[in-house]
Amino acid sequence: MSTSPRRVLVTGASRGIGRACALELASHGFDVAINFRSRAEDAAAVLSAVHEAGGAGQLLPFDVANRAEAEATLAEDVAKRGAFWGVVLNAGVTQDAPFAGLDGAAWDRVLDTNLGGFFNVLRPLVMPMVGLRQGGRIVVMSSVTGLRGNIGQVNYGASKAGLIGAVRSLALELARRRIAVNAVAPGFIETEMLGALPREEIEKLVPMRRLGQVEEVAALVGFLFGERAAYITGQTLSVDGGLA
Ligand code: NDP
Repeated sequence: MSTSPRRVLVTGASRGIGRACALELASHGFDVAINFRSRAEDAAAVLSAVHEAGGAGQLLPFDVANRAEAEATLAEDVAKRGAFWGVVLNAGVTQDAPFAGLDGAAWDRVLDTNLGGFFNVLRPLVMPMVGLRQGGRIVVMSSVTGLRGNIGQVNYGASKAGLIGAVRSLALELARRRIAVNAVAPGFIETEMLGALPREEIEKLVPMRRLGQVEEVAALVGFLFGERAAYITGQTLSVDGGLA
């Protein structure tokens, strides 16, 4: 068996929760592929931070919503560097509007990225993962909106609830292979995704009366990638200060 570090992929790792997950997994000794779509400088800074902390990784840019691009990039990477042991499917977008005013482009973009990304990224990686015969981990970033809904987020809620359904079934398919598949459902986490939402108003909605930090989500992902989490599969775990 190879003694080189296990490879993991984090999608949407140029900032926010994905960045924190990449740094967390690098600190656990994984070789981390840092995916992003547009912010090359931010992604390069994440890779530098991984290297400065003594970790290993590389950049792997592609658009998770583009099936052909994702498949070609991942196939080439796996052929060159070997199969991934784990994946954090984190890349996601919002495009909020009340349902009556939601246009088709906003529906398609959010579904294609958040839910389409599940197929586009994981489908090319699953058989190589199984072929490693070392078990593995898949963690999918859902949301409190996928569990309990949110005004103005019908498209986003559909994508995030869809991910939970996909996780449950893929977990059953991969259980015999010792590949654990789980969803994490963050509440309000302090990232660019919160945009211009008034912070004080949000805090009033949270039982713990504060926003979550990216490291608090990454810590759970780090745990799920550990040996002690090997028997947890098909679950959705919330990190939300009591919201759900
Ligand atoms: P950010 O908006 O801060 O970061 C999003 C990341 O996803 C960026 O790295 C971005 O890369 C990447 N990305 C977006 N679209 C694509 C794409 N098509 N292909 C590849 N990469 C893409 O988001 P957060 O860190 O806040 O959110 C991360 C995940 O957590 C998302 O799935 C989100 O839905 C979920 N979540 C977040 C919550 C929050 O409160 N923040 C709450 C619940 C869930 P680039 O900039 O290079 O394009």
